[in-house]
Amino acid sequence: VVSPQDRWSWVEVNLAALRRNTAAFRHQIARGVQMMCVVKADAYGHGAAACAKTMRAAGADQFAVATVAEGVALRRAGISWPILVLSEPPVDCVGTLVEYDLMPAVYTADFALALGEAAAAANRVARYHLAVDTGMTRIGVRRSDALELRRTIDFHRGLECAGTFTHFATADVLDDWDFALQLNRFQEVVSALRGAGLECGLVHCDNTPGTILHPECHFDMCRVGIGLYGLHPAETTMPRIQLEPVMSVRGRVTRALYPSVGDGVGYGMTYRVPKQNIQIATVPIGYADGLARELSNNMDVIVGGGRCRQVGSICMDQFMFAVDVNSARAYRPSRPVEYGDVVTLIGADGDELIGADEMAGLRNTINYEVVCDFGMRLEKIYT
Ligand code: PLP
Repeated sequence: VVSPQDRWSWVEVNLAALRRNTAAFRHQIARGVQMMCVVKADAYGHGAAACAKTMRAAGADQFAVATVAEGVALRRAGISWPILVLSEPPVDCVGTLVEYDLMPAVYTADFALALGEAAAAANRVARYHLAVDTGMTRIGVRRSDALELRRTIDFHRGLECAGTFTHFATADVLDDWDFALQLNRFQEVVSALRGAGLECGLVHCDNTPGTILHPECHFDMCRVGIGLYGLHPAETTMPRIQLEPVMSVRGRVTRALYPSVGDGVGYGMTYRVPKQNIQIATVPIGYADGLARELSNNMDVIVGGGRCRQVGSICMDQFMFAVDVNSARAYRPSRPVEYGDVVTLIGADGDELIGADEMAGLRNTINYEVVCDFGMRLEKIYT
């Protein structure tokens, strides 16, 4: 546990675990097939620049982000490897894309031609990846329009197609009809483009579950995200690869006291102290740090290797928890807490562990959202 005394709350990012996870994926992907590491949303809350450098050292060939600003931040942090912006940004961004050598996803002629113009004006060639919608109905050119789009933009000397990709909606489901249909449609589009003599660049479609469960469609590159951070996208992938969670979330007790029986805790007094000798402790992490308010009165924290119940409504910057050393719970804390004690929201302490999956289950969401949320404001400490 990293516990510099001057910090009340922080996210710990275990770069050694990140490196081992990245190497584990590299091992699953054949030599000659590239690995694109997805570091959008500040590397799913883990800090994009530090994570990208670690991933690169462990075998990443390329990176993917969601926005132009994320790509620019990576370039400014010294990341010089190829970066794909996973959807078509506003057309006003074309100059920035060229200036920072960022490859956008492309799926409309207007955007592509504006990009080509910006590149030509700078005496450069802009590389892009054609995004094809094969059934997720989110982004990409409709598959029936892919060939025409390429023919419309291909004449432009400022443009070069560096990749052709699609995204699966159900890659985590085994033997899924929708997955098979998307794959089939994608292969048809690629064949049609190639049949027309068009260069497709790197052909890619697998995300984390696809990379693990569908090696038959690794093609030229895999786009791996959540798995790098040590989290499984679904139960189906768990038996297939060993991963270590990278993020832990911790804070310190800033105050602890024994209120009177019946005293309320927090906004709305949604918890009242039910008996004597219950200690109520405060930790400066709140919903603005990613601790969803809907978890109020419904989650545990770990302190001193034992679990305690969070109580009262989670505030914007703080939450409270109850310490009952006489609790009937098997995993109660062994002693009262003290000012400065380290409290774990996500991660291990002693024999206890709270995973992002446990918190996601309580929130009725996915582990992706839990780690993205904690990346918002808490300071990151790299270990
Ligand atoms: N490719 C695209 C287009 C994505 O949007 C994402 C993330 O949602 C990924 C790849 C990575 O997905 P995952 O985190 O499941 O590996």
